[in-house]
Amino acid sequence: MFDLIIEGGEVIDGTGAPRLRADVGVFRGKIAAIGDLASASATERVSARGRIVAPGFIDAHTHDDRLLLMPTTGPHPKLSQGVTTVIAGNCGVSLAPLVTTNPPAPLDILGNDGWVYRSFAAYLDALAQSSLALNVACLVGHSTLRVKHMADLERAATPEEEASMAADLTAALAAGAIGLSTGLYYPPAKAATAQEVIAVGAQLKALGGIVAMHIRDEGDAIDEALREALHIGRELGVGTVISHHKLVGTANHGRSVETLALLEQAAQGQSVCFDCYPYNASSTMLLPSRVKQSSDVLVTWSQPEPGAAGRSLKELARERNQTEEDVARALQPAGAIYFAMSEDDVSRILSHPMAMVGSDGLAHDVRPHPRLWGTFPRVLGHYVRERKLFSLETAIYKMTGLSARRFGLTGRGTLAPGHHADIVIFDPDRVNANASYGNPTEVSSGIDAVFVNGKLACRDGSTVCAGAGQVLRRQGALL
Ligand SMILES: [Zn+2]
Repeated sequence: MFDLIIEGGEVIDGTGAPRLRADVGVFRGKIAAIGDLASASATERVSARGRIVAPGFIDAHTHDDRLLLMPTTGPHPKLSQGVTTVIAGNCGVSLAPLVTTNPPAPLDILGNDGWVYRSFAAYLDALAQSSLALNVACLVGHSTLRVKHMADLERAATPEEEASMAADLTAALAAGAIGLSTGLYYPPAKAATAQEVIAVGAQLKALGGIVAMHIRDEGDAIDEALREALHIGRELGVGTVISHHKLVGTANHGRSVETLALLEQAAQGQSVCFDCYPYNASSTMLLPSRVKQSSDVLVTWSQPEPGAAGRSLKELARERNQTEEDVARALQPAGAIYFAMSEDDVSRILSHPMAMVGSDGLAHDVRPHPRLWGTFPRVLGHYVRERKLFSLETAIYKMTGLSARRFGLTGRGTLAPGHHADIVIFDPDRVNANASYGNPTEVSSGIDAVFVNGKLACRDGSTVCAGAGQVLRRQGALL
């Protein structure tokens, strides 16, 4: 007897193995059987004929820390893509532990409200008590710890400050955080040394945490920045995730050949992988220094000039008879989309066996980068079906089994008896990201049904249940 049988679909189990025709039986939130269940009885049967049945996608890189606490009204940016688990707290930015009403950029990508959690445990408890649309595992942000413990962010931490940050991290790991994230690229952490990160993360190994890093430079100095991140990972002795691997600036286009070679070489001696999103434009805080690197810049939000959201910096500069940098300064604080990558690098990075899919979407932007609503269907529709960059089995592995293993999400990410019933049913011929730079919050098509812990959460892009998610507390990464 099953609660649910998903029948007749092509099952792609998330391990990278070839698809097979099978029914999937669910009982009490878990997968109970995979095979021919034609004669089994079930409370509910759902047909998946002509469809792919896969593990719910894991968004390996998100900034959903505050989104998760907000009520879901209408379509959900992640559920509607087939995502059932997100990794929050990336790029050095986590909503806890920090109490402030005035977070410095880029912490403000999570908004100015909601910074009310003195401890990470309190934040995880708040998540657990709220109606979670999907599952979440959380990283602790190094920049958040710096803002909490350092009066002067323009210098490296003192041994006392390192100890305070390390103590907060240890408490967070004990409460269930899965690791540390860093953003040495950003102003609040620019002055931090590798040694500081190593001191802060000293307990990661003993407590089974990982480290995810937005490296110091993704442009001209990417080689040094990658080597620094690999050094930190090695010294910490823990699984290392390089965040949203990419190369920005025309001068660096094509250099993914060398960065991937460097990562492959490092992987011989340490546990390392990376996430990436399937677009050749990036998005973060509006930094005047990045204007020159980009062929175009779109404003995603601006506090003094909300009407600038969605506008091109070039156009604004022309209208105002100013330089783009001047306009960028006038719009602060603000966010932007930068067109500064080459499609060849994006394809090469995404295809690499070490690549996981992560959206890096920014849910609180007025006109967000389309990756927030479109990342997963874009990989399946554009890169797999249209461009045939890799197989559907490989794509799903990058979205599920690989990420679950890297982040230590036991019992998730693959379809197997005993595993949690996070499941997506989609149409491989129709799946498509409809979000674009012009229409950034358009719901994707072809994602028929999404189950979170055995409950139907989303049907054809519409939210059915926004409360089936769980907080996934650290179980120790299996790397
Ligand atoms: Zn980042």
